[in-house]
Amino acid sequence: MSQTAERVDVATEAARRRTFAVISHPDAGKSTLTEALALHTHAIAEAGHVNGKAGRRRTVSDWMDMEQARGISITSASLQLDYRDTVLNLLDTPGHADFSEDTYRVLAAVDAAVMLVDAAKGLEPQTMKLFAVCKHRGIPIITVINKWDRPGRDALALMDEIAERTGLTPTPLTWPVGIAGDFRGVLDRRTGEYVRFTATAGGAHIAPEERLDPATAAAREGDAWDVAAEESDLLHVSGADHDDATFLAGISTPLLFASAVRNFGVHALLEVLVDLAPAPDARPDVDGDPREITEPFSAFVFKMQAGMDTAHRDRLAFVRVCSGVFERGSVVTIARTGRPFATKYAQQAFGRERTVVDLAYPGDVVGLVNATDLRVGDTLHDGRRVEFPPLPTFAPEHFAVARAVDPSRYKQFRRGIAQLDAEGVVQILRSDLRGEQAPVFAAVGPMQFEVAQHRMATEFNAPIRLEQLGYSTALRTERAWVPAIDAQLGAEVLERTDGQLLALFADRWRLQTFRRNNPEVVLTPLVAA
Ligand code: GDP
Repeated sequence: MSQTAERVDVATEAARRRTFAVISHPDAGKSTLTEALALHTHAIAEAGHVNGKAGRRRTVSDWMDMEQARGISITSASLQLDYRDTVLNLLDTPGHADFSEDTYRVLAAVDAAVMLVDAAKGLEPQTMKLFAVCKHRGIPIITVINKWDRPGRDALALMDEIAERTGLTPTPLTWPVGIAGDFRGVLDRRTGEYVRFTATAGGAHIAPEERLDPATAAAREGDAWDVAAEESDLLHVSGADHDDATFLAGISTPLLFASAVRNFGVHALLEVLVDLAPAPDARPDVDGDPREITEPFSAFVFKMQAGMDTAHRDRLAFVRVCSGVFERGSVVTIARTGRPFATKYAQQAFGRERTVVDLAYPGDVVGLVNATDLRVGDTLHDGRRVEFPPLPTFAPEHFAVARAVDPSRYKQFRRGIAQLDAEGVVQILRSDLRGEQAPVFAAVGPMQFEVAQHRMATEFNAPIRLEQLGYSTALRTERAWVPAIDAQLGAEVLERTDGQLLALFADRWRLQTFRRNNPEVVLTPLVAA
């Protein structure tokens, strides 16, 4: 292929990709929505066929289950769907017990996020945490109010809550006809039409949608239509109409109403992703210089995972392609070490069938096997050297002291800790008081401790004991104002490897008390460093 032909090809392929993640709180319906998106893009033929206890319909709890149930290939990292002429890369944000650094880091690999909100619960804590990361990174957000088929809050009240708590201006693209619990359809605010939904048995199939003009809608739905039309006008008057520029700048958020379980409103989301969400674009390197998508191959590792074959301690690196074409079998360079990396074993295309990835384009995710030389945050490239900025660190909420089970293996212990620290598996905190032999592990999710413990034992031959510390909050501070571990205060100051001092508090109540009593001490939240 000539250079020019390849460049044109890359630009075209990149332009038809949308790489995004769903940010939500557990139980808001992320798995159900994922399944609905797969159904609407014909990646699966039927939703919800996995039966749980007593034959009741059960949502597929995770993508691995879904893969087994459907025989489609989904990895724990990404699902690729085709819609119209667009390739949608949906990256997973692990949510329940497996909420961790990885969940946040996925957001470094997406170009847009879908914020899924339960109509009855509004914005929940995990959603807010993930939202904060999106906001920090300037990621455009599409908001979906889910479970409108169930009694919930008032639509305008939900909009107010979103505006107040996120600072985003919600710009509804659809407006519900019928209150929460009486979901008849939506008013398409761009055309003024009524999109009427028809339920299918158990929500297993794509729900038929009928487009009706306003007069027919009014005749059919009476008050429910009139209220929707009035509220929509009110929104228009108050300036809540979609605007591309503010959406892409992360200032406004298009809003949709849906019922993932009934497959209502899923088409609209797909259309919005294709029509409004941004395609991959040049990514700034560590010096702020953009790597254009048409330049030679570059990608960065956003997630590492132990391979399926645990006996071989294989490790899988998930990379997001940023520029150029990924070709299986090519040898690329690891920017950190300058060493070559053979992509011979590049794995999995996601989507309909389990195949090996031969080609991937900007926005795509590739799983590289045999990735023991790679770390989270690493840049891989071909041609002109490039190194992307390191992935951010996040506010830890779990803390534990690590000690070598066998003190004579201290050298291995130190080496292992340094490695886990460099990879960002856990953050490592120290203080003179606790000493070198008792570093503190800090993590977003407790599962990271298990990963660290396992790797210390198997990989570094230095088994560790972990002793949980009763802190739940860490803030940046400028000096060590707590001279010692202060049990009564429920606070402690430790130094992170990057030199940042962190103040740890047992709970918010203790933090508030401390703030009140020590107004001169500056404590700043850790969103993303
Ligand atoms: P996740 O934890 O965010 O992945 O949530 P799930 O997709 O597992 O859904 C949690 C529960 O909410 C399940 O029982 C779903 O059947 C239910 N659910 C999801 N979406 C909807 C919806 O639109 N309407 C209703 N009524 N229930 C839903």
